[in-house]
Amino acid sequence: MTSPGPPALDLLVLGSGVAGLSAAIRAAGDPGMRVGVLTKAELSQSATRWAQGGVAAALGGDEDSTDLHLADTLAVGAGLCDVDAVRVLVAEGPGRVNELIAMGAVFDRDAQGGLLLAREGGHSRARVVHAGGAATGAEIERALVEAVRQTAAAVMEGWFALDLLVEAGTTSAAPMC
Ligand SMILES: Cc1cc2nc3c(=O)[nH]c(=O)nc-3n(C[C@H](O)[C@H](O)[C@H](O)COP(=O)(O)OP(=O)(O)OC[C@H]3O[C@@H](n4cnc5c(N)ncnc54)[C@H](O)[C@@H]3O)c2cc1C
Repeated sequence: MTSPGPPALDLLVLGSGVAGLSAAIRAAGDPGMRVGVLTKAELSQSATRWAQGGVAAALGGDEDSTDLHLADTLAVGAGLCDVDAVRVLVAEGPGRVNELIAMGAVFDRDAQGGLLLAREGGHSRARVVHAGGAATGAEIERALVEAVRQTAAAVMEGWFALDLLVEAGTTSAAPMC
């Protein structure tokens, strides 16, 4: 007996780490868009869930700025950074962290209820947020998985993508159960 293939979708996202889940949630926000997520293990299985060190973003108010974050990153990058990519990272970082919070991700807070910002290697300001101490990736993955389960038209767990097939200009995945 052969397994049924993926249902008809407008978009099939491969992988369920922070990249795939974020893309799926954003795309599913478009009215009428049927988004699926296909992943080789359970939805929550990814490198993302093991990330411990936190997320750097210029969230420190007047103390910090995206320009400072950019300068710090380029300095420790020692000439190896893609400057345009770093510009996107520092500019969009604070907004993305706030999106995760709005989605239900719980980051560590200080006594006043503000985000607890740590100053770590290479950063001239305190700008690294954590969740549950060293469980940052696990918390981000938890919140994204919950949001995808509510918004995706289909979730295919235990499917391994082997190839991308292009037929008449349309791309589809060649999954294997
Ligand atoms: C131990 C550890 C600590 C880290 N600490 C930090 C940190 O402190 N701060 C930080 O910013 N980053 C950290 N990182 C890096 C960070 O976790 C990754 O950069 C990020 O999670 C990558 O996300 P992703 O969505 O691109 O990939 P992943 O999270 O790896 O997701 C890939 C997904 O694709 C699926 N997949 C892969 N191949 C197939 C296939 N053929 N078919 C179907 N599905 C497939 C996988 O199962 C998985 O769900 C750490 C990583 C590790 C491992």
